[in-house]
Amino acid sequence: MAKTEGQKLEEKLCYKIQNIGMERPEDVEKAMAFCEGYKEFLDHAKIEREAVRETIRMAEENGYKPFERSKKYKTGDKVYLDNRGKSIILTTIGKRPLDEGVHFNIAHIDSPRLDLKPNPLYEKEELAFFKTHYYGGIKKYQWAVTPLALHGRVMLRDGRAIDLDLGEKPGDPVFVVSDLLPHLAQEQVKRTLADGIKGEELNVLLGSTPIADPEVKQAFKLKVLSILHEMYGITEADFLRAELTMVPAQHAVDIGFDRSMVGAYGQDDKVCAYTALMAELETKKPEYTTVTALVDKEEIGSVGNTGMSGDMLLHYMEDLAEAEGERVRDVLRASLCLSADVNAAFDPTFPDAFEANNASYMNRGPVLTKYTGSRGKSGSNDASAETMQRVIKYMDDENVMWQIGELGRVDLGGGGTVAMFIANMDVDTVDLGVPVLAMHAPFEITSKLDVYYTYKAFKAFNK
Ligand code: MN
Ligand code: MN
Repeated sequence: MAKTEGQKLEEKLCYKIQNIGMERPEDVEKAMAFCEGYKEFLDHAKIEREAVRETIRMAEENGYKPFERSKKYKTGDKVYLDNRGKSIILTTIGKRPLDEGVHFNIAHIDSPRLDLKPNPLYEKEELAFFKTHYYGGIKKYQWAVTPLALHGRVMLRDGRAIDLDLGEKPGDPVFVVSDLLPHLAQEQVKRTLADGIKGEELNVLLGSTPIADPEVKQAFKLKVLSILHEMYGITEADFLRAELTMVPAQHAVDIGFDRSMVGAYGQDDKVCAYTALMAELETKKPEYTTVTALVDKEEIGSVGNTGMSGDMLLHYMEDLAEAEGERVRDVLRASLCLSADVNAAFDPTFPDAFEANNASYMNRGPVLTKYTGSRGKSGSNDASAETMQRVIKYMDDENVMWQIGELGRVDLGGGGTVAMFIANMDVDTVDLGVPVLAMHAPFEITSKLDVYYTYKAFKAFNK
């Protein structure tokens, strides 16, 4: 049937939103294959230290060498800088001189979790527990009655490091925060959801057998210590030199009859870290030098010397620029940055949290988020029209399907990313990443097509 005049006009003038599964069914299989590697990465990178270790392994396999200050690099050279084992920067030297700018791709590798308090171990009524202090924004009740694994690092008195990941291998024990049975929860259920489980109730159950000696005062706590000592050679004082945390023990799995989605802990923001990393590893001789940074501490405000509000990236850029005889401010001013972070996918069960025309949706590809923040865009990087133009052109030129989106309904809440810190360095910056359902929950959900297309977006950007 011939198109009516109105239909022709509509085609010419209206922005059409598209579902990748509908438009490009041939890509479903590629997305499935790509996400096998992604799921494996998630299982080996639950905390930032593990993500850095895994990234270095993959980088070295792909010819990356540790970055050397004042060394002259040539097009196609690949280097990485390991910042304290908690953040990592990877670079492929581009064809253009540095003062024409670099392409930054910055994702974070920390995720919300239950950190152990500095003095965590105690016993109460013949049970042993760890006290925790949650890290990042969580709905606390979601972290009860879910199996947890113990990860992190303990520094011994003599400077040796002990790395833990207990609860991951088949046959490992797991840990858990208990909750009250519904029969006795008449008072608890009257609490607000925010207080369903309170911060000081996020106590992790560790053991229930004693050292069978009536002369010992805290026999249940001592039993746990004796096992820790046997396994890792540590004593209670070693907790004071540790970064230990409880993360969901669940491994990454497929979701749905069609296996079209990934369910896993820590996809915010390992999904952008992995896709950015894969694009970086495959970059050969890019037009612009790539700077892919996988960074720590985003979930608590990008603080400190491993986070993006600090100077780690600036110092790296200074070293890069100096080796080329360039001024770092010339390099930064000419650069373009994708702040690679997730956004909230529209959830049909909670439609009121979103504004449908400006929400991101599963299976429409990576979300370009012009601004984040809360209320009147407070605490946001608000990307300019020019920056939007440049980034959109990279994706359109390579036929990458993508979508626009902001974080939920105005005045409902909000959030931030590393974007504002990079923009503060005088770099044109915008957020781009995967839409996620149940973000910050112990079990987050992404679509495989979105994961695959976010990787394609980063590939287009690194070309
Ligand atoms: Mn994030
Ligand atoms: Mn987050």
